[in-house]
Amino acid sequence: MQLPEFEYLRPKTLAEGLAALAEHGPDATIMSGGSDLLINMKFRLDTPKYLVSFNAVQEMKAIEPQADGGLSLGAGCTLTQLAESEVLAEKYPALHQALFSVGSKHVRNAATLGGNICLDTRCWYTNQSENWRETRDGCFKTDNELCHVIKSADKCHAINSSDSAPVLIVLDASVTLASVNGTRDVPVSEFYNNDGVDHTVMRQGEILVGVTLPPPKGRSVYAKLAQRDGLDFASGTFAAGIVGSNEKPESVCLVMGSVGPEPKVLADSAAIIKASGLNEESIETAALAARASLGEVTNLFTPSGYKRRLVKALVKDALGELRDLQV
Ligand SMILES: Cc1cc2nc3c(=O)[nH]c(=O)nc-3n(C[C@H](O)[C@H](O)[C@H](O)COP(=O)(O)OP(=O)(O)OC[C@H]3O[C@@H](n4cnc5c(N)ncnc54)[C@H](O)[C@@H]3O)c2cc1C
Repeated sequence: MQLPEFEYLRPKTLAEGLAALAEHGPDATIMSGGSDLLINMKFRLDTPKYLVSFNAVQEMKAIEPQADGGLSLGAGCTLTQLAESEVLAEKYPALHQALFSVGSKHVRNAATLGGNICLDTRCWYTNQSENWRETRDGCFKTDNELCHVIKSADKCHAINSSDSAPVLIVLDASVTLASVNGTRDVPVSEFYNNDGVDHTVMRQGEILVGVTLPPPKGRSVYAKLAQRDGLDFASGTFAAGIVGSNEKPESVCLVMGSVGPEPKVLADSAAIIKASGLNEESIETAALAARASLGEVTNLFTPSGYKRRLVKALVKDALGELRDLQV
């Protein structure tokens, strides 16, 4: 499948790149590793006139320990670079595991952190060739006001499959967005929208330049289920963090991924663990609550009944693992 025609811009500095984004407005698309974007371009889901690559901007590739004990990660770091980072593996093992689980080694060599966080949402009806899509009406993602997944929906239900997103929320991380107008920091918990088309709060002309992780607190785990490791996106992911002891947690954060257009914070399940501690009984109750709180499940890539069972099993297993991690 051929790529559509485009002009490739490779600015040497961030300022030059931001100016290019401002000049070309909606005609420009940011490319990092291109491991997802180029496929979408071949499918004609994105046909930018200008492709702006920030790969030459060295300041976006740094891994920098912070004075407060936290860590800052440039959005241009490749997932291989992060998987090989000892400081990341030691201080934030759940994030390290999540990034290491993305695709295969070949994918991770090209893929970047920024691209993973901004990864476009996916849908079985849309992430197909143009010829395939022509056999049915368009949808919110293409040229129509229709969702093939949930016919009565007034918005797109494509799925957010970013492996880093749920665990970044659990770690209380924030992202730095830059444009010609300056920079702003946004907590990852407020970065995503529950809409498969307009799925982040990024504005026209903005780029995600880096991630800030606060000093590590407590324990966290990451769990993922995919049909084929290295090839398939997850059918479900789950990140869990707890501060304090198993008996008396000070705070609990539980987040599901790959179940809808945005990562889903499981507030009811977290409240159960916070109130009762992390033990066999509360884990079972929290897993049932997770299943119940899914609400309208996006029936994509797997039947919704399967996804509900998968959520319960992932939550139960991962919370058991979290309980057994040394305090
Ligand atoms: C075989 C295969 C398996 C895969 N498996 C997984 C998986 O298991 N889990 C997973 O999460 N992903 C998976 N992916 C998708 C993809 O490889 C990763 O999500 C990757 O991290 C995307 O990063 P990238 O740098 O290649 O992004 P790109 O493809 O360059 O960009 C992705 C999107 O993000 C935007 N973008 C990129 N960088 C920035 C930035 N700095 N600021 C703002 N917007 C930006 C682009 O405009 C584009 O919309 C897989 C892909 C393939 C081909």
